[in-house]
Amino acid sequence: MKSKGLLVVLSGPSGVGKGTVRKALFDTDHDRNQFFYSVSATTREARQGEVNGQDYFFVSRSKFEQMIEEEQLLEYAEYVGNYYGTPLAYIEDMTMQGKDVFLEIEVQGALQVKRRMPDGVFIFLAPPNLGELETRIVNRGTDAPDVIAKRMEQARGELQLMTQYDYVVENDDVSKAVENIQTIIQAEHLKVDRFIDDVVENYLDEGETN
Ligand code: 5GP
Repeated sequence: MKSKGLLVVLSGPSGVGKGTVRKALFDTDHDRNQFFYSVSATTREARQGEVNGQDYFFVSRSKFEQMIEEEQLLEYAEYVGNYYGTPLAYIEDMTMQGKDVFLEIEVQGALQVKRRMPDGVFIFLAPPNLGELETRIVNRGTDAPDVIAKRMEQARGELQLMTQYDYVVENDDVSKAVENIQTIIQAEHLKVDRFIDDVVENYLDEGETN
């Protein structure tokens, strides 16, 4: 029996370490077969070392707006003055082929995906506590004090949205968080609902014709 590929959405407040956990998860996927990362489109400038098509598809604002208009995006959000969005075609292709696709996106976008694809697996990455989140944002050293205050305010609101997710994983230790995410994915693959079409085809139909 083989189930359809999963759409796994990892989300959580800014500064919680989504990128770090996602990279660590993909590093454990040595044969590069288990998960496929959905590369997002963004209008923000590439940072040093980022590769177009690998980290993001870096596009102009007008190109992004065209993608919205042509309904090429599963979801999109405006975050700190730039657009970020998930191309739909890749996800449809991969899940139909039985492959798991992994999204790492902010909270507004994740909730849009949940409305459109409720059978996805929605994982909220949570900080051990708010003080720890502030320490991480400050230690990143990239934000001015007023921006840090705004991010913290936003993070408080985002934490309240946790109840709309299927799972919460605390990120106090990256390898433990990765292990928990792998456990969630393994269990999700075994859910009856994910096999139902296959079961009907292989067993129940057969029984009915006998
Ligand atoms: P950064 O600019 O640091 O790469 O990303 C900023 C935020 O945008 C992060 O929280 C990241 O998870 C989120 N993000 C990246 N890609 C997407 C996307 O396709 N859609 C949404 N909604 N958020 C995204």
